[in-house]
Amino acid sequence: MSVLVFVEGAGGEIKKSSLEAVGYASALAKKINTQAVALVIGNYSDDQISSLGKFGASKVLSCKNDKLSQPLPMPYASAIAEAAKKENADTIILSRSSVVDAIASRLALKLGAGIVTNVVDLPDLSSGFKVKKSIYTGKAFAFYDLTSAKKVITISKNAYSAVEGSGSATVEAFDPQLSDSDFKVQIKETQKATGDVLLTEADIVVSGGRGLKGPENWNLVIDLAKALGAATGCSKPVSDLDWRPHHEHVGQTGVKVSPNLYIALGISGAIQHLAGVNSSKVIVVVNKDPEAPFFKAADYGIVGDVFEVVPKLIEAAKAL
Ligand code: FAD
Repeated sequence: MSVLVFVEGAGGEIKKSSLEAVGYASALAKKINTQAVALVIGNYSDDQISSLGKFGASKVLSCKNDKLSQPLPMPYASAIAEAAKKENADTIILSRSSVVDAIASRLALKLGAGIVTNVVDLPDLSSGFKVKKSIYTGKAFAFYDLTSAKKVITISKNAYSAVEGSGSATVEAFDPQLSDSDFKVQIKETQKATGDVLLTEADIVVSGGRGLKGPENWNLVIDLAKALGAATGCSKPVSDLDWRPHHEHVGQTGVKVSPNLYIALGISGAIQHLAGVNSSKVIVVVNKDPEAPFFKAADYGIVGDVFEVVPKLIEAAKAL
């Protein structure tokens, strides 16, 4: 028996959130005296693939099948299900993403597995298999008992730290048997809407609020984002006022982000905005009002005027 973990990449790199999933799978495997097996689909370098051992995988199944060059939910679910069967894995771990959301449900259906999404901690195995799940955009937790023999778990980004150790993994080529029915839906063409860093996947997000006073001042947000290789976001009123496009609006009614670093410039920190940012690892707030609610959620706060503070931040970021 083993715990299988699906490893996802973006832009030729294995995602940090997938490394977190490998760490999670490895910790779970230790709890049940078994090993974690990672499944990597895609043309990653040998170094990238074998490095998964450092994050806790004992074995890596490397699948380099051209038919899987696009992350289509059906064939990916089939490939993961076949790997689970091969490795005798009852529990399959995936890190949440828009792609994984589509894969995980299909995978659970294929395996006849119970599924819990958005899990934020290792399961409590003292009586059964109890998992803690984040609900209401991170405002509360729910505890689920997974009673099915097969289990699919998607974990939230930043819920479990990826710790690099000195372990090593054996690497094995894996070529799943895929059928035509797996490819009934195919992507014929993709068009890049923007060259900017994708907000939902960004490691760093620089976000602006009404404190920026108007779209003519957005160069402050953009320049800081560029200097840090970050994506740009905004509060809802900013997109309502058409200062920024709606797809940048972060919060309860907008995009939910989970970066390592969220920098909020001139945003008050209303609960509806916080609902979209509270799974960020580190939050930095710049606001001239020391009573702004965002400071309560911040790891670091600067009480100051964005028009004075941000140019200094840009200068410092450029010098990094
Ligand atoms: P403001 O509330 O106007 O705050 C501006 C901040 O900038 C203030 O804290 C001020 O001190 C500071 N400031 C001003 N000038 C400067 C300066 N020169 N330097 C530094 N700081 C300065 N909001 C969202 O963002 N996302 C959502 O998804 C969302 N969903 C909502 C859903 C519902 C049902 C409702 C009712 C509201 C929702 N809102 C959402 C709106 C939310 O309640 C707030 O009104 C909004 O987040 C406030 O945006 P803001 O902080 O940019 O503006």
